[in-house]
Amino acid sequence: MVGATDNAAERDEPRFKLAIVYHPDFAAYGYPALRDRVAPAFAELEERGLLAMGRVEVLQAEPADVKLAERVHSPSHIHAVINSGYYDIALLSAGSVIQGAVEVTAGGAESSFSFVGAAGHHASCDGFWGFCYLNDVAMAIAYLREVIHVKRFAIVDIDPHFGDGTRDILGPDPEVLHVNFHSGYAMGGQDGPNNLDIALPHQADDGRFMAGVEDALRAVREFDHDLLFVIFGHDNHRDDYGAFELSDGAYAVFARRVKELFPCRVCYVLSGGANPRVARRAIGDVVEVLAN
Ligand SMILES: [Zn+2]
Repeated sequence: MVGATDNAAERDEPRFKLAIVYHPDFAAYGYPALRDRVAPAFAELEERGLLAMGRVEVLQAEPADVKLAERVHSPSHIHAVINSGYYDIALLSAGSVIQGAVEVTAGGAESSFSFVGAAGHHASCDGFWGFCYLNDVAMAIAYLREVIHVKRFAIVDIDPHFGDGTRDILGPDPEVLHVNFHSGYAMGGQDGPNNLDIALPHQADDGRFMAGVEDALRAVREFDHDLLFVIFGHDNHRDDYGAFELSDGAYAVFARRVKELFPCRVCYVLSGGANPRVARRAIGDVVEVLAN
């Protein structure tokens, strides 16, 4: 418990409000459905002046260690991801998530926002689909447990597609709370000590969504976590490809509410979403809330 104990004092006063983890390869080599939003969203942060703020640090993502991928996924899974052609971008994406989480747990920043080029929540131990290749959050948790000795994790996944990969790997874990928004089509195991599924209708608006968020955050409060991951898919916007009908204003409201209850030790992980206009607004609003 050396890391956790030693870092406790630093945690009280992190040097940065927010760590943003990014790499231009996410836009250049990311999965096609996801990559066109990346550069516009990052440009939006620049245009809003958020990257130049003194208490915002911007880190360049580095690839995750292959051994971490091998710890979370089966050999046949890794082999299939290599064959997909997206192994490198998946390792870089997982690395982005790990770096953000390390900044937050090691006392460098209150919160983090990690860009990705491939998503993670549909990557299970031995299978993947839906623009996901390696389970970035599961790899980050494996790393944090081993290196920083952080133990208990809450995950709130607001991507409207069922996070079956995360459920497969972390659902049975007694020290992980998995709160999973979805549009009524459940996949994967629902059993587990700390699994909460929040099914909303396809046409769920901001009000329905925020009612679900209150349920989610209540569960997080009761869980007593060390670190909270928000799996942030803006494919729940009415102009993006997933279910739900969120408006432009939903993301600032969401981020403010999360911050009100959990002002630090929160890691946002980019997930689904393709529409560059939506990405600019959604990511811009969340980062603006976290940076202030
Ligand atoms: Zn999705």
